[in-house]
Amino acid sequence: MRTVLVVEDEPRIAGLVRDYLEHAGFAVLRAGDGRGAIVLARTRRPDAVILDLGLPTLDGLDVLRDLRRDSNVPIVILTARGDETDRITGLELGADDYVVKPFSPKELVARVRAVLRRAETPPSPETRVVVGDLELDVPRRRVLAGGRTIALTPTEFELLLTLAREPGRVWTRGQLLDVLRGSSFETYERAIDGHVRNLRRKLEPVPAEPRYVRTVYGVGYALAEPDAPRGAEA
Ligand code: CA
Repeated sequence: MRTVLVVEDEPRIAGLVRDYLEHAGFAVLRAGDGRGAIVLARTRRPDAVILDLGLPTLDGLDVLRDLRRDSNVPIVILTARGDETDRITGLELGADDYVVKPFSPKELVARVRAVLRRAETPPSPETRVVVGDLELDVPRRRVLAGGRTIALTPTEFELLLTLAREPGRVWTRGQLLDVLRGSSFETYERAIDGHVRNLRRKLEPVPAEPRYVRTVYGVGYALAEPDAPRGAEA
């Protein structure tokens, strides 16, 4: 049974989310504040985290930053309606998805399932994708770039894998969001920019001069083809 840590200070919301998750077959851990959340995440190693951003003792964004220092656990953040800044910051800090309050618990459970699916080994026979000196070990979700091992979140890995399967193909942000979300949810193009920024920070020897993930101005992103000159376009 997979375990989800629910970090939410409002007991009514936390209880509702727990009920829906348990009904969907998950075991649920609860934390009502930021510090408690970090302790539980470290000691109990949940399979996914639902993290409210408005928390006592330690802000949700600080919790996120702290968890991402040493963990790639899938994280879905809960944000207040209209609080776009927090949402973008959360995605930039490595959250895998977000849900805006007030939310449908059913949709939240669907999002948790989606980030867990991304984090797990796909059933496809694909094992390795190699583009130049970039190597993706799909079953192990590992990335080698120029001989360096890169640790990525499930979302970053999925994003890179999508680009790497078709080097040179140009993707719009909307298309990438569809791939990451299974296309049925609200689109949020700047979220892709946040994930790409995080991906580059980890992957690129010089993030300001990307050699792997190129920006295609006015359109979106593409993985550089191994024979094409790199760096100049982005
Ligand atoms: Ca709250």
